Amino acid sequence: MQSEVWDVAVVGGGHNGLVAAAYLARAGLSVTVLERSQHMGGAAVSHQVFPDFDARLSRYAYLVSLLPDQIVEDLGLSFRTLARPVSSYSVSKSESLLIWPDAHERSAANFAQLTGGVDEFKAWQTFYAELGHLARVLAPTLLQKLPTRSELRQKVGSGIWQQLIETPLGQTLQARFSSDLVRGLVLTDGLIGTFANADDLRATTCFLYHVVGNGNGQWRVPEGGMGALVNQLLASCARSGVSLHTNTAVTALQRDAQWEIHTQNQKTLRARFVLANCAPAHLQALLGQTTEPCSDGSQLKVNMLLRKLPRLKNGMDPRLAFAGTFHLNETFTELQSAHAQAAADRMPQIIPAEMYCHSLTDTTILAPELLSQGYHTLTLFALHLPASLFDHAHDQQKALALERLMQQLNQHLEDPIETCLARTANDLPCLEAKTPQELETEVNLPRGHIFHGDLSMPFREDDAPATWGVETPDPQLFLCGAGAVRGGGISGIPGHNAAQAVLEQLGLVN
Ligand SMILES: Cc1cc2nc3c(=O)[nH]c(=O)nc-3n(C[C@H](O)[C@H](O)[C@H](O)COP(=O)(O)OP(=O)(O)OC[C@H]3O[C@@H](n4cnc5c(N)ncnc54)[C@H](O)[C@@H]3O)c2cc1C
Repeated sequence: MQSEVWDVAVVGGGHNGLVAAAYLARAGLSVTVLERSQHMGGAAVSHQVFPDFDARLSRYAYLVSLLPDQIVEDLGLSFRTLARPVSSYSVSKSESLLIWPDAHERSAANFAQLTGGVDEFKAWQTFYAELGHLARVLAPTLLQKLPTRSELRQKVGSGIWQQLIETPLGQTLQARFSSDLVRGLVLTDGLIGTFANADDLRATTCFLYHVVGNGNGQWRVPEGGMGALVNQLLASCARSGVSLHTNTAVTALQRDAQWEIHTQNQKTLRARFVLANCAPAHLQALLGQTTEPCSDGSQLKVNMLLRKLPRLKNGMDPRLAFAGTFHLNETFTELQSAHAQAAADRMPQIIPAEMYCHSLTDTTILAPELLSQGYHTLTLFALHLPASLFDHAHDQQKALALERLMQQLNQHLEDPIETCLARTANDLPCLEAKTPQELETEVNLPRGHIFHGDLSMPFREDDAPATWGVETPDPQLFLCGAGAVRGGGISGIPGHNAAQAVLEQLGLVN
């Protein structure tokens, strides 16, 4: 690669880097993607985590909502997502609530059983109808230049805008719902990967990203696992002639008339444009700038392989309980209390968490012999565990968090989770956990932040210039990853938008 000159070099082969590369190569530009790790995909990968078993787990990211159908169509991806038969099942202490995706009557009955009346379900329906309206307005703007605050407010309507965008989420939930369990269930969408109190506007922003995907906010299972998306993106890149390099960490970026891109292999490339799929903090370091501190990532991701689904003490069918999002100890009070303890640098006594059993929806991720024996995958995503809790005595803190989580889970299980875990040939339980620090090492996420940094509202102020949300002070350098405005999650949106920004500058946009 000594003397190569490219139209575009992409720093990082996460799914967004691949989306950007595919769009640009299809437009006729020469594009290279430089990825530091051994594999492309970043946090969007499937992996045979337990080598003794042919089960391909979505090791990091696991559900898809934000990926616009338009990107799938434009890039010719043979990729689909599957609806889950249950929306969610929430348990805390002696309370529980099962919500179906479409069966309103059955959901209404479950709400009535929980709250003793019909009002809570009515409030739920009204709230989600308003969110649906907001989602339908916002979703089509995500692949366009940033709309202004006023434009959006006008389209959404000032009442809904005020409630859902300007008011802290915690306040809205306390005003609209009476049940602690229901309030918490809604709040969790504002806390995924975001260490925030319910009244922190960062929770409102995070919430927005979780409810607008494709205009319906549905979170669906990627068929074949998250790696299936990346395999399709790699095929699309290959069809368009993108040059792909793994094991190629970019170590510095310098600029004269063109960009000079230095890699760990002591090789230097030249390119007219650079797209940074790495986190903004890392881009600053590559440019030799002082890096701004990044907020803490705030989760523990646990991947498990089960030889059987555990039965629940309350008699609920586990094939229903685990089919959607299983919320564990996520009442509003429990979430707020966990946040307060973690903010005071203490491991929460009760750690809120969510679980997902993908193999109940997508059987293709398990080998037929595992399926026939009743094996299942189980993902647990625990909230309010900021990186700061693991900075000192990392391994002990990780063990403590896991011990608490398993104990809390077992309080609801007839079969303790340890008795359900598959075991390796060496008799080790099939369970791996990733702290923010481990995510930083493996995926290069600063402080383990799953969105490369806190999310920003998906619009611009009225007096700000019209941009794609991917621009930097240098006109030939763009962000194309989660750290862009409208970046977080498995969406391909910042990849698409960075490609559009380059094409626009070259006068190649239709
Ligand atoms: C545990 C976990 C669970 C998640 N769950 C979900 C989920 O269920 N649904 C969802 O929508 N989102 C989820 N997310 C968030 C989502 O995965 C990210 O927002 C998304 O992966 C961002 O994609 P990206 O391509 O922008 O960046 P990344 O996936 O972070 O990829 C960036 C790539 O750049 C590479 N790189 C960095 N620096 C350099 C360098 N100097 N040189 C070369 N290469 C470099 C990295 O190695 C990496 O491959 C989750 C994230 C994590 C970590």
